[in-house]
Amino acid sequence: MPARRIIYALADSPRFTGWVSRHGMRWGFARRFIAGERLEEALGAVRELNNTGLYTTLDYLGESVTDEAATRAAAQTYCDMLATIAETQVGASVSMKLSQLGQAINDDLVSENLRVILSKAVELDNFVRIDIEDSSTTERTMNTMKRVRSEFSNVGVAVQSYLRRSEDDIRELNKIDAQVRLCKGAYKEPPEVAFQKKTEVDEGYKKLAEMLLDDGNYPAFATHDPKMIEHIIEYAERNNIGPDRYEFQMLYGIRRDEQVNLIQNGHGMRVYVPYGEQWCPYFMRRIAERPANAMFVMRAMVRG
Ligand SMILES: Cc1cc2nc3c(=O)[nH]c(=O)nc-3n(C[C@H](O)[C@H](O)[C@H](O)COP(=O)(O)OP(=O)(O)OC[C@H]3O[C@@H](n4cnc5c(N)ncnc54)[C@H](O)[C@@H]3O)c2cc1C
Repeated sequence: MPARRIIYALADSPRFTGWVSRHGMRWGFARRFIAGERLEEALGAVRELNNTGLYTTLDYLGESVTDEAATRAAAQTYCDMLATIAETQVGASVSMKLSQLGQAINDDLVSENLRVILSKAVELDNFVRIDIEDSSTTERTMNTMKRVRSEFSNVGVAVQSYLRRSEDDIRELNKIDAQVRLCKGAYKEPPEVAFQKKTEVDEGYKKLAEMLLDDGNYPAFATHDPKMIEHIIEYAERNNIGPDRYEFQMLYGIRRDEQVNLIQNGHGMRVYVPYGEQWCPYFMRRIAERPANAMFVMRAMVRG
């Protein structure tokens, strides 16, 4: 889609992303998808969601970190976040990216940082989800997941239905009883590794969802797509799989009415709540998913 290609090009432009980073929070347009730059702001959003019966997962935004000290600081931030969640008794698990924990440096550092966070989460009876990033990191993310899964049960990973390899990954993850979050995928990927047509990505999503419902461990279906949601509910009902055996997930700020609708119909729903100063790459992915979202950035630019 040409609009999406333009947005991916803008996302690579330091001039454009610099402008977005400088103005997004102050002018308010980033707040549609980002709960704030500080944990206190995100906790406010979490409380509001909890009050309507929605679970959440908190993401301290950050990716592609190349400084070792910064990766350790990110791990410490996650430990502090877990402690705050326990103290304030909000309903939130956590989500994170391995590139924030040092994937660009080496995988031993990633595992070390991850173990620190997972141990803290065990102590506080919480759960950690590893987000999945661009395809250059998939193999190593799956390997790290398998490694830590043998030591911890409170960890899960996301899988993207646009990747051609994902059927094999789901099969492997089901074997080790790993908790999987299934999403379609949010990065620009070449045709060798990823389906390019929406119909193929959607068919893949349905097939992988069935594999997870049949053999997975409490899968999470991360999608705003009514067709995927309908398919999952129908398949689960047809196979006597109760709504307590899986959950839906959506992103903060997207299809809020449907989030509430699903819980009113007896389904579990967890909202992904991102916060932090490094929000720009996440924000750009939300714009690329739905180029119409670029309109409110354009409007802010014109007003500014
Ligand atoms: C909880 C959660 C966690 C995720 N984690 C990851 C991850 O770890 N790695 C990864 O690559 N991707 C992740 N994603 C993003 C995902 O891969 C998709 O890019 C995104 O969810 C859009 O796909 P969709 O399934 O909603 O379907 P689509 O077919 O893209 O969209 C279906 C409908 O949803 C609505 N919608 C979708 N996106 C937007 C948007 N940005 N703004 C407004 N409306 C929208 C529109 O009404 C659209 O018609 C995550 C998504 C969720 C919900």
